[in-house]
Amino acid sequence: MFGVFSGAVLGFLFRPSIPLVGQLPLDVVLTRGASLNGVDTLLRSAAEQSFDYVMFGRILGAVVMAVVVAVTKGVSQKPSPSVAATPSNALPPSVPASSPIALAVNAFCTKCGAALGQDVVFCGSCGARRG
Ligand SMILES: [Zn+2]
Repeated sequence: MFGVFSGAVLGFLFRPSIPLVGQLPLDVVLTRGASLNGVDTLLRSAAEQSFDYVMFGRILGAVVMAVVVAVTKGVSQKPSPSVAATPSNALPPSVPASSPIALAVNAFCTKCGAALGQDVVFCGSCGARRG
């Protein structure tokens, strides 16, 4: 896992610096200050904090690498031929409101079948209300 390693290195490089002491050496950080003796035990909390930086860097590096790998795989994947072959006019044609079927229904009386005008409400032949 290159990401974990590089992340750990970055986390180590960006570990907090202690005043008058500077950044703690790698062995102190990795042991979380367990090897510190005497007055140096005061730096143990700083060593633990630096250790957390390394751990955070490892996690961050792993996440970054996972994203990079995912993106790389996604880019390298060729588009499936089925998607590319799909015609752009695959959508069903829209049915106009003034379709021939609707006009045919309204043009004749539903009761007697006589021809009706566009604005006629009642049939002129049988007097039935227009359906
Ligand atoms: Zn009629």
